[in-house]
Amino acid sequence: MTVADVLSTLHAWAPPGQKADFDRVGLQVGDLTQQIDRVLVALDLTPAVIDEAAETGAGFIVTHHPLLFKPVGRATADDPVGSLVWRLGRAGVSYAAIHTNLDAAHGGVSFALAEQLGVRDAQILAPLDGVMRKVVVFAPADAADAIRQSLAEAGAGEIGDYDGCSFTVSGTGRFRPREGASPAIGEVGAPEAVEEVRIEAVVPSWAVGAVRRSVAAAHPYEEPAIDVYSLEGAATRQGYGAVGTLDAPEPLAAFLGRVRNALGAGALRYVGDDGQRIQHVAVCGGSGLSFLPAALRAGADAYVTADVTYHRFFEALDVDGKPRIALVDAGHYETEAVTERLIAEHLRQSHPALAVDVTRYQSSPMRTFAG
Ligand SMILES: [Zn+2]
Repeated sequence: MTVADVLSTLHAWAPPGQKADFDRVGLQVGDLTQQIDRVLVALDLTPAVIDEAAETGAGFIVTHHPLLFKPVGRATADDPVGSLVWRLGRAGVSYAAIHTNLDAAHGGVSFALAEQLGVRDAQILAPLDGVMRKVVVFAPADAADAIRQSLAEAGAGEIGDYDGCSFTVSGTGRFRPREGASPAIGEVGAPEAVEEVRIEAVVPSWAVGAVRRSVAAAHPYEEPAIDVYSLEGAATRQGYGAVGTLDAPEPLAAFLGRVRNALGAGALRYVGDDGQRIQHVAVCGGSGLSFLPAALRAGADAYVTADVTYHRFFEALDVDGKPRIALVDAGHYETEAVTERLIAEHLRQSHPALAVDVTRYQSSPMRTFAG
């Protein structure tokens, strides 16, 4: 199989279109047509990971954090980032990142983190905003089934745990083919009235192009009428973080112990009321502080994320200086390490013939000194 085959599996799961604006994902170094039979998965791309791929014969590396994030001026052996591009090239290894598109995927990074912590019934904490569209197609009634199928196949009509959702009403379509047209129905110059149906379905913004192409291919008309509207506040299955519940409430100290043990964190930094009991839990792997308001709105007792700086811990306090929520910084690496397994398991399920390894190296250079 090729790099493109593996990448398309990842992108069906975590569409690049749902990545954050600032992010860079997908193939960063290499060749989509490269033949591969082994993939290496890591959180970060490091020299050791590339050497490991070369050693094990993995022709493709997939990481969560993108190597090429800021513009790089050169790919030379003396540049910290560019040297990795050079090293990949010398080893003949292709490389891709699946980053915020996986963070935002339903069942993505934060869902895996929630599961790791024993948080059940996880839902998206902060759904992506403004991404839903409504696609409306007008077609002759006898083409309705084919149109509905083309919508579903291209990713339209997914609502929560349902797919193939659409709505159809009947009406009369009117048109007059002009000179140069070759109409499926009617004749040039003659006004036509046709019993048509209006079929509508929701679609995320990143799938609109594919839906247009799919519908156009299934539509009998030369110039199909396909309208796309923006939807305000429509629910999405995609977003950041996850929120759910523990089986039973537990004291904050027990919860902190749970987090530390589950994530293998050397130490936790937190703001919280030591007398508080924790059951409703929000999580976001990596730098998730911007979703603290969402965790508060969700009524979470605790929010576990990473990269919380000193001053921003104060955002967890109320006007009297008391904790509104237990805000826990469990470490960026620690809250995202599960991502390696998540990606690897997805690839193994999708491509049974593909060998998939998780790197033997811990990519974080940070250590905790505990005595
Ligand atoms: Zn991260």
